Amino acid sequence: MTAKPRRCQTRWAGCPDPDERELMSYSDDEIEAAYDRTDGNCHLCGGRMAWSNYGKPGRRQAWEMEHSRPRGGGWGGTDHANNRYGAHVSCNRSKGTRSTRSARRDYGRTRAPLSRSTKVKLRRRNAAIGSGVGAVVGSAGGPLGAVLGGVFGSWIGDSIEIDND
Ligand SMILES: [Zn+2]
Repeated sequence: MTAKPRRCQTRWAGCPDPDERELMSYSDDEIEAAYDRTDGNCHLCGGRMAWSNYGKPGRRQAWEMEHSRPRGGGWGGTDHANNRYGAHVSCNRSKGTRSTRSARRDYGRTRAPLSRSTKVKLRRRNAAIGSGVGAVVGSAGGPLGAVLGGVFGSWIGDSIEIDND
């Protein structure tokens, strides 16, 4: 797969910042991959990103490619796909060259939003684990046990998260 160069579409004259210039050189596939990675949510604040407002600062829910490990500031980040996430332009700007961990903390978050496929998998797995635990606890103690088991089971299921950092 070859990344075809994209024209600079930003309103920033001449894209003065190397990161911004580079931002526009992603292929549609790469942009889509970053967007899908978090199911269209900003990986810093968790809010929605507008697909059509990629690289359009000032637009509603405008977003851009973000390097999770900054390339500047001595972080040694690379432009590899696993270092790329979508983030709101404003969130990316306020992150600067800080770590992703530090930037997410501004929004009380520790993880990137989940991709759609991960959400589906997780929901299935949690439902299976939840009903399994519920059945075990429920079988221990009659009708009340069954009710408690069900509640407990779904609580366990809901509380399981995966770390996709
Ligand atoms: Zn954001």
